[in-house]
Amino acid sequence: MAEKLSAVKGMNDILPPSVPRTEKLPDSVLWQWFETAVCDVLGRYGYQYLLTPIVEPTALFVRGLGEVTDIVEKEMYSFTDSMNGDRLTLRPEATAGIVRAMIEHNALYNGPLRVWTVGPMFRHERPQKGRYRQFHQLDVEALGYAGPDVDAEMILMARALWRELGLVEGQHVRLEINSLGQPDERRAHRDALVKHFEQHADVLDEDSRRRLQSNPLRILDSKNPAMQAVVEAAPKLIDFLGAESLAHFDAVRGVLDAVGLEYRVNPRLVRGMDYYNLTVFEWVTDQLGSQGTVCGGGRYDGLIGQLGGKPAPAVGFGLGIERLLLLIQALGLPVPSGAPDVYAVVMPGTPLPPVVAALEALRAAGVSVVQHGAGPDGLGSLKSQFKKADASGARHALVFGGDELAAGEVTVKALRDGGGQQERRSLASVAAWAATLKS
Ligand code: ATP
Ligand code: MG
Repeated sequence: MAEKLSAVKGMNDILPPSVPRTEKLPDSVLWQWFETAVCDVLGRYGYQYLLTPIVEPTALFVRGLGEVTDIVEKEMYSFTDSMNGDRLTLRPEATAGIVRAMIEHNALYNGPLRVWTVGPMFRHERPQKGRYRQFHQLDVEALGYAGPDVDAEMILMARALWRELGLVEGQHVRLEINSLGQPDERRAHRDALVKHFEQHADVLDEDSRRRLQSNPLRILDSKNPAMQAVVEAAPKLIDFLGAESLAHFDAVRGVLDAVGLEYRVNPRLVRGMDYYNLTVFEWVTDQLGSQGTVCGGGRYDGLIGQLGGKPAPAVGFGLGIERLLLLIQALGLPVPSGAPDVYAVVMPGTPLPPVVAALEALRAAGVSVVQHGAGPDGLGSLKSQFKKADASGARHALVFGGDELAAGEVTVKALRDGGGQQERRSLASVAAWAATLKS
């Protein structure tokens, strides 16, 4: 027997609702619904869609994300291209690739740029609910913009998306923000931090002791309960920020306050990548356990220069689509079912051309119609066809039979609210009738 093939651990199929799923991941209808909402909302803000490759040179992420980040240290899918020996990596995040592309195409030559993309990302983590090895992100970037207005725009755009999807900010998702200041301010803070943690070296775990020299800021990110007291008492970066950094932060907060968006300043919010400066933010929920960050981002004014471009400021965010849809499911918010408007039942022996012509007229009128299709054993009994019609979620069945067709008619049967009511209609009037279902 052939070996059973299955998906790679931590990588999921996103399936249509009619396929029974063992993994309780959102179905593909929610996925499309999300993407439509994203197109809509980001279009309102003038962001342009772009796509970059899933595979990039490993060096891009090492240089872009930082040598001692979790991602680069232990989460990247890196491999050697056996054809030519190139070191390649499946992208763990989208920002570095977008910045690479924008530099390569000199995209900022004509001024700043607002762009977004959606797609799979890859990280070798321990799979659990809301954490996968292939997952999907919406990624939004504004390149070449320096002002706090665009930082606020990022946050407000996410809020607009929540609203579009039925999530209530402050209740279902909460905003946390912080400022990471500028490199020199971070250095002064870092020195104070190292001093602090050295004084408490006995309570640090192995990971943190290793980070003490390489990346002490990441110790603040530790989820080890035994270290929480020492982490809590550590010097706060905000106390090391100069006037300019503070003014930038205040300006972002000023916009959020003005539009009545509530947030918490979380001085421990540091984010996983090295490239951030000034504003960082996360949208969090407590519905998803330790996978509580649905969306995170911030400013990264140094990255474009660091990757070889003409230095330019930038700000962006990444949103975890699986987590967001899991949250929406957990909250029981209304979502589309993906059901067609109409299911067409075809009595065995009915001539097909007039059936198909009628269904095409419906579709041309904007109505979604599933035509019952013949399997290896033919169309099947009326009873089995009606079972399928029911399972499809359609509100109406159209029943095509030889007699009706000969009279230029079709039977319309209500499958849901009408409770089995049926009536005959002239084929000529069906498209007009069906169009009224849409309103
Ligand atoms: P976490 O702290 O949960 O590991 P992160 O800081 O590593 O998240 P980012 O790199 O900021 O995450 O990515 C942006 C978003 O992508 C996250 O807020 C989250 O919603 C989602 N995300 C990150 N890693 C995963 C993953 N392994 N599986 C599913 N979603 C993920
Ligand atoms: Mg992570």
